[in-house]
Amino acid sequence: MSFERTQEKLKILADAAKYDVSCASSGSKRNNASKGLGDATGMGICHSYTEDGRCVSLLKILLTNYCIFDCAYCVTRKSNDIKRAAFQVQEVVDLTINFYRRNYIEGLFLSSGIFKSADYTMERLVAVAKKLRLEENFNGYIHLKSIPGASDELMKEAGLYADRLSVNIEIPTEEGLKLLAPEKRREDFIKPMVKVKNEIILYKSEKKLIKSTPKFAPGGQSTQMIIGASGESDQQIMWTSNYFYKKFNLKRVYYSGYIPISYDARLPQIGTAVPMLRENRLYQTDWLMRFYGFEVHEILNQEHQNLDLEVDPKLGWALRNLEQFPVDVNKAEKRMLARVPGLGMKSVYKIIEARRFRNLNWEHLQRMGVALNRAKYFLICESRNFERRDLTGPQLKSLILQNSTSKYQKVLSPQLNLFD
Ligand code: SF4
Repeated sequence: MSFERTQEKLKILADAAKYDVSCASSGSKRNNASKGLGDATGMGICHSYTEDGRCVSLLKILLTNYCIFDCAYCVTRKSNDIKRAAFQVQEVVDLTINFYRRNYIEGLFLSSGIFKSADYTMERLVAVAKKLRLEENFNGYIHLKSIPGASDELMKEAGLYADRLSVNIEIPTEEGLKLLAPEKRREDFIKPMVKVKNEIILYKSEKKLIKSTPKFAPGGQSTQMIIGASGESDQQIMWTSNYFYKKFNLKRVYYSGYIPISYDARLPQIGTAVPMLRENRLYQTDWLMRFYGFEVHEILNQEHQNLDLEVDPKLGWALRNLEQFPVDVNKAEKRMLARVPGLGMKSVYKIIEARRFRNLNWEHLQRMGVALNRAKYFLICESRNFERRDLTGPQLKSLILQNSTSKYQKVLSPQLNLFD
């Protein structure tokens, strides 16, 4: 295989992989000064986080962008007229090892279009991971995409070599999937998830008894949903996430705004991309559910089916529930402190620790790094001067927005702004 052909394949298959955000990726601009194989600029290097929170650079590619399916929302769909390419198993192994030795990457994120069948494709993804581990003694991070419909045996093997496995739900609702990917069945996504979940539990419990039991997908499993391709509300999206988190012990759900790329009448028109801010608000809601004790119905319900893009979902909830405030910082339970806009969980823990020794006032809170510009409207403390002055929710919202210098006005920030 010539150097040029490998480079061309890498260009095609790294570009095709960029639509998958389930490795928490961001583009890398790592240059190769020596001009050897693997000029990584824009060639599929992304960042991800390991189980212990380390940030790692990954080679992010598809094994192939040939696909027997025709999902309307996907650039790889068989009816799309694009350049196609496929790597051999050994080529991916060699690329990974070469990039790894040159310190470009610390791991591999490998996905694929489905060629021939789910098992035929999954077998090759597993073969890459197996060769890397057993023949190359590769100890870097490996994230494998599970192919919908893959057999239990292959999923079991995949978990023995990969750190993380993920299968994309793709469309949040079953009706949406029927409309945009009629050949696909929801059960085909569920089946590998169930297998991985059960094996993780089994291996963990065996490890307690037999120390030499190998790890099974130690980074757990995740999934991705495409947002805005099938007209679903934020409420429907978050209920789907909630279901998958609870039912399959997922580590993460990723939300990827659909970018219209075709003139298919079933899809939103070209030029109507989902605002980055909608993704951002969904991630914030997801965060509130996982770490702040919120239930989906508190944030999204029949009355509020979509998130307010102007304010984050915690502030939105607080503005609709003003009767639950002000919260006394010196007495409130952890659950209520966590619901105060401007208080992140770190601040909550600092407050709980500090108030064991003294009553806290605004100065103490400021020194702890609490975002008082929002929190002051929802808190009372030793100083007692409460800032809300009997404003209604909408009045308070406009006051906060007026006084906001960055967070709520930069509505198209490309970065995730999670909570302080
Ligand atoms: S099966 Fe996957 S790769 Fe193939 S068209 Fe559907 S979403 Fe794209």
